Amino acid sequence: MIKESIVQALNGQVNAEYYSAYLYLSMSSYAGQAGYPGIANWLFLQAKEELDHGTRIYRYILERGAAPLLTDVKAPAVNFTGMKDIFERILAHEKHVTALIDKIATLVLEEKDHAAYSFILWFVNEQVEEENSAQAILAKVRLVETHPGLLYRLDDELGARKP
Ligand code: MG
Repeated sequence: MIKESIVQALNGQVNAEYYSAYLYLSMSSYAGQAGYPGIANWLFLQAKEELDHGTRIYRYILERGAAPLLTDVKAPAVNFTGMKDIFERILAHEKHVTALIDKIATLVLEEKDHAAYSFILWFVNEQVEEENSAQAILAKVRLVETHPGLLYRLDDELGARKP
């Protein structure tokens, strides 16, 4: 039987993943309105990925015979000041999510729940990717910061992301 403290931590992470989806959707809307459909596409697909993350944890809680508890999802920020602001916030947010995941990994190790540890490792690895791609895009946004025309190149590049 899965320990209650672990169920609580996983439930908290379901909420955090759905909040991430909300945040990316809000950013996608902003990018679309600012005239960057490619960046909006990348952010939209990212939002969908976050929904998948939340659902993956939701299903795991069920699989372990416990009850997922769905709680209020906080409203995301809506006031952004540009693409640099967006990707700076994404990098900071993903670092925050990594810390949340690490906390769960530490908890399940302490509780000697090896099945839950095996499950959470997927997220540990996923966060390396998430931080890495946010970092890489932010580096490009900073490069083209003083050449707004080049931002369109980046928009094309991010527009090529497929589901
Ligand atoms: Mg996620």
